[in-house]
Amino acid sequence: TETAAEVSTAKSQALFEEAMDVMPGGVTANIKYFKPHPIVMEEGHGSRLYDVDGNEYIDYLLCYGALMTGHGHPAVYTAVTEQMYSKGTTIFGAPHRLEITMAQKLRDLYRGIDQVRFCNSGMEATLLAVRLAAAYTGRHKIAKFEGHYHGGYDQVLMSVNPDETEEGTAENPACVPDSSGVSSECVANTVVLPFNDITACETILRKQADDVSCVIMEPIQSGFIPASPDFMKQLRALTEELGIVLIYDEVKTGFRVSLGGAQEIYGIKPDLTTLGKVLGGGFPVGALGGKREIMELCSPASGRDILTAGTSGSEKAFFHSGTYNGHPTTLAAGLATIQLLEKRGGIADVFRKTEQLKRGLTELYQEFNVPMQAMGVGSIFNIVLTDEPIRNLRDMRKADTDLRRRIDEALLTLGIYSKPMNRYSMSTAHDEADIEKTIDAHRKALERVL
Ligand code: PMP
Repeated sequence: TETAAEVSTAKSQALFEEAMDVMPGGVTANIKYFKPHPIVMEEGHGSRLYDVDGNEYIDYLLCYGALMTGHGHPAVYTAVTEQMYSKGTTIFGAPHRLEITMAQKLRDLYRGIDQVRFCNSGMEATLLAVRLAAAYTGRHKIAKFEGHYHGGYDQVLMSVNPDETEEGTAENPACVPDSSGVSSECVANTVVLPFNDITACETILRKQADDVSCVIMEPIQSGFIPASPDFMKQLRALTEELGIVLIYDEVKTGFRVSLGGAQEIYGIKPDLTTLGKVLGGGFPVGALGGKREIMELCSPASGRDILTAGTSGSEKAFFHSGTYNGHPTTLAAGLATIQLLEKRGGIADVFRKTEQLKRGLTELYQEFNVPMQAMGVGSIFNIVLTDEPIRNLRDMRKADTDLRRRIDEALLTLGIYSKPMNRYSMSTAHDEADIEKTIDAHRKALERVL
């Protein structure tokens, strides 16, 4: 049997020490950090990652879900290289065909999308969504859910993971910034709602309806805690009644829980939708889509715009621009990825394999008498170590995080890669052999830590 000593990450450790000198914490994104040191990666192929020490891992992080066809799928690789070699590495700074093709694709797939604008990250997409809602309603507060992540800027970086001592009550959560340096003005302009509790949401929103421009939410929190269908229906009706823009942040769920996102599963039309991750086929991307009536506010043809001064209109247009928006390489990769998922055996096959892994792990943990739920939708799931029902962030605290961490640390030495405590994402590249190896590694991990 394998032991931790057989796996060396000495080169990772040495490189990480170098990194600590030139990057705070040795990382360029806080999320990459974990103790004792993150693993420094060298290559990725299919479902596999290879670190600088030559260790091979089955990758379930998949860049936080961004890679739905694994690393370097030949079709994605071909699309990207053809785009670059035949049309140039250039980003034109002018309209091009792929933007239109992708916009049409998103309109066809997402029931809440009539029109689209592209940007370069999920965070940018939600930032635009929130400001567009303010422009549309003339109101300046936003409402978001406790435990929901929408990127790292001030107004939404609230109560994603608040400390229990400052979080307020379950029915009326406090607004707690998740970073230092966030202004009190931002805190005052953010309303925090409890997920999956429509009575409490209604009480909070009715009180402040005149000031609240939007409700932004992850329809399936972190991709694995679904909103109840009733909650979603009632929230749609309530926001409509109060004139509040409903934003589904589908950066994580888009193409992962269904090709048409969570909105397809629930059968509900949000006013605005944000996308990212899978949409870029491994390259940086974000997109904001929504109802024509709201999206049209972005049009410089209908108002004054600082970049096209004097074009037309007396009203100020909503400002949206970006040097790299609609990057051809990104869109080529994204379109190739979506095509692969649409093919027979594409996304459906990923879902089938995900269910197979979830079932195998569930049976294994039962064998070890460890309470566990493999919770998730479509191609994402999380290993939640409790039998208690999970409806929101506070319920998640009932899970045994200490045991989970020890299992994850053992798995890293057994060739299973995810950031400890992170969700599992699957791809078209993961096969039956990967699933078997993964279940076997969990068996060894459980034997080791229990
Ligand atoms: N919204 C959600 C739901 C996300 O999961 C993420 C990224 N994890 C973001 C927004 C931010 O996206 P990005 O990291 O591309 O800025």
